[in-house]
Amino acid sequence: MTAEKDLILLIEDEPQMRRFLRVTLQSQGYRLIEAETGEDGLVQAAGRQPAVILLDLGLPDLDGLEVTEKLREWSTTPIIVISAREQERDKVRALDAGADDYLTKPFGADELLARIRVSLRHRARQEAGQEEPWFQVGELRVDFTRRQVLLAGEEVHLTPIEYRLLITLIRYADRVVTHNQLLREVWGPRQANQVQYLRVYMAQLRQKLEADPARPRFFINEPGIGYRFKSGAEEIADPK
Ligand code: CA
Repeated sequence: MTAEKDLILLIEDEPQMRRFLRVTLQSQGYRLIEAETGEDGLVQAAGRQPAVILLDLGLPDLDGLEVTEKLREWSTTPIIVISAREQERDKVRALDAGADDYLTKPFGADELLARIRVSLRHRARQEAGQEEPWFQVGELRVDFTRRQVLLAGEEVHLTPIEYRLLITLIRYADRVVTHNQLLREVWGPRQANQVQYLRVYMAQLRQKLEADPARPRFFINEPGIGYRFKSGAEEIADPK
């Protein structure tokens, strides 16, 4: 069974939050399935095959981390975690367990809709097997087959680690990648605690690829969580 593109599953126990999300999503033409508990959310995810799952972390029965882990046993449907500020640690754990992105309450409708579009786009590209052999955003171009990085037509020399870090971030473009994920994918599972490596290499990447490293356009810091490579596709593809 394939997912219906406009169907969103919302797992959230707070009636006010559900009302806000219902109004926002329905006004954009999405259809919504609502679940108030983690157990019901899992049942609905299996039965209805939504395109995206919005998951609150503080649920009355299971917590969001458990729901993420259970979903990831059989489903690759994008999960966007919605959490309160005090759930910071759980948020990182849910992302490491396979959630795709997060929003911290309170968040605006535009931000929510942008995150949903990014997830849907990623999913559609994956399903179509449309991974391009190159990536371009603005003046930055990466040729994956030649492992070549160009900035305004000039080749930029990256060390192997810098290159792996760059292409990992690009693979998750516009979605958050946690410190753990980056360390595991770039340095390997044994280096997962070395967050300082990341800071050093991220500073180097910014130095080489950002017009103004102090005000990064591509490599966005998500404090306490990780990094997000901003492709700008959101602004281009979805003019307001
Ligand atoms: Ca809640």
